[in-house]
Amino acid sequence: MSEAQLRALVSAVATSVAAHAEELTALDSAIGDGDHGVNMKRGFDAVSADIDQIATKPLPDALKAIGTKLVMTIGGASGPLYGTLFLTLGKELAASPDDCAGAFRRAVDAVATRGKSEIGQKTMLDVLYPVADGLSAGKPLPELLAIANAEVAATGPRKATRGRASFLGDRSIGHIDPGARSSALILEAVAGALK
Ligand code: ADP
Ligand code: MG
Repeated sequence: MSEAQLRALVSAVATSVAAHAEELTALDSAIGDGDHGVNMKRGFDAVSADIDQIATKPLPDALKAIGTKLVMTIGGASGPLYGTLFLTLGKELAASPDDCAGAFRRAVDAVATRGKSEIGQKTMLDVLYPVADGLSAGKPLPELLAIANAEVAATGPRKATRGRASFLGDRSIGHIDPGARSSALILEAVAGALK
């Protein structure tokens, strides 16, 4: 990936996160503490501010730098989790550059380990695992995006059993998970920039 492509990717993600910060915060206000939009915007703004250093690195190193930045800046539960996702993706791509799908799956596994969580608990994993499955099956980006968006909607009727939303028990039912939504947003921005 060229420096210009990497810049375009980061810029697309940061722009989308900023444009949807209020929506993410509203989702998190319903079943959490209302900081997910602010958290995510802070994280990707910090990545954008560092783009001159990040974009000159090879992709695996750039992903690791993004992960480190996100851990330091997003905060909350999602900071370490998104940080782990990007950091592990960078490490795995460095180790096996020809196995994107495997690298992504291992990055999602690392998030699950870090969060002591699994698919079906109304978290970002409810989007990330089905996308990993689609990638492994060789599905193209538009299909992965459709999967992600369907899985975001599917978190609505689910009861949260991990993260802050799980404190609400049955009252978490009927609301979309903010982290699932932000995962789909990131994927959508990446897909748009790669087109
Ligand atoms: P906090 O819950 O600390 O306020 P955020 O609001 O930034 O953090 O992020 C909340 C999102 O993080 C949730 O919507 C959920 O998708 C995700 N999340 C929280 N805990 C976990 C976990 N243990 N495993 C996976 N994802 C989680
Ligand atoms: Mg929150």
